[in-house]
Amino acid sequence: MADIIVIGGGTAGLTAALYARRAGKSVTLFEKESTGGQIVYSPRIENYPGLPGISGADYAAALTEQAEHFGVHIEYAEVTSVRRTGTGVTVESDAGTLSADALIIASGTAHRKLGVDLEDDLVGCGVSYCAVCDGAFYADADVAVLGGGSTALTDALFLSGVCRKVTLIHRRDTFRGEDALVERLREKENVEFLLSSTVTGLMEQNGTLCGVTVRNLASGEEYPLPVEGLFIAIGQIPQTDLFRGIVETDASGYIRAGEDCVTSLPGVFAAGDCRTKTVRQLTTAAGDGAVAALAACSYVDRVKGTN
Ligand SMILES: Cc1cc2nc3c(=O)[nH]c(=O)nc-3n(C[C@H](O)[C@H](O)[C@H](O)COP(=O)(O)OP(=O)(O)OC[C@H]3O[C@@H](n4cnc5c(N)ncnc54)[C@H](O)[C@@H]3O)c2cc1C
Repeated sequence: MADIIVIGGGTAGLTAALYARRAGKSVTLFEKESTGGQIVYSPRIENYPGLPGISGADYAAALTEQAEHFGVHIEYAEVTSVRRTGTGVTVESDAGTLSADALIIASGTAHRKLGVDLEDDLVGCGVSYCAVCDGAFYADADVAVLGGGSTALTDALFLSGVCRKVTLIHRRDTFRGEDALVERLREKENVEFLLSSTVTGLMEQNGTLCGVTVRNLASGEEYPLPVEGLFIAIGQIPQTDLFRGIVETDASGYIRAGEDCVTSLPGVFAAGDCRTKTVRQLTTAAGDGAVAALAACSYVDRVKGTN
């Protein structure tokens, strides 16, 4: 039995766990992969106050060490179910069953898939969702990046330094990502833009990607583009399937909770990218973590009758 369970070891979850421990609560944090969450693979964070230019991996390591220093117990296991027990919760995980008075959900988001045939089969064999992780496998190859946000632009920029040619494919005629990134890409001789276009199919040879089918959305024309790598950067989806039916979610699957991180179920709080919000960043995830932790501590005190 813990006072508080935290699900997710990204910025929101680690911050929440750290705050709750410093408030004197026992905390178990579940993380199914490695702590740090999405930011781990980012080569450089430029907008986190006070830490200019730190890599995602170094930032994640420092935050994990800080949480452990204050006594957060990190269980490297996937939570597979959550249920209400009395005024608290019980979670099942790969590591067993654990109950607590309060729960903080900080499960973040995952990469959105394109949804074309062969996509799952070719992951690791030409299809990737992480340029920084897999870009080096495509040194001197021709690759494509699909997407129009800052992640796609950053991926294309990174790959332009590794690959022979990068084709950036985006369904609109303008980008959603930062203008500064677009300008830097336009200066690259090995980057080509295919706007108002999307990928409708994947081509494989001997189990490896050898090209994609591009559709020009203005003309309807479809044609093959030979590439060895396709980096898909078309957004994120919330990792909240587990909590549907436990707490209210919005139409996109994000947990309904405001700036106070309070969900529809008393004693259950949502922090970071997994909740309904407009700005999903490290700073807002950290802010949520602090708010959710202090709210969870108050809840625990109330149900224990200590305050
Ligand atoms: C490529 C990239 C670059 C970015 N760059 C920046 C940047 O420069 N600056 C910035 O401010 N933001 C940046 N962001 C956004 C930032 O990473 C996110 O806003 C932030 O990571 C959100 O933190 P989080 O803790 O809410 O969620 P996440 O970081 O998504 O962490 C959630 C964690 O929960 C775990 N989890 C989920 N379900 C379970 C389960 N059932 N059991 C156990 N564990 C579970 C996951 O494994 C994950 O580790 C970037 C994002 C990406 C993808």
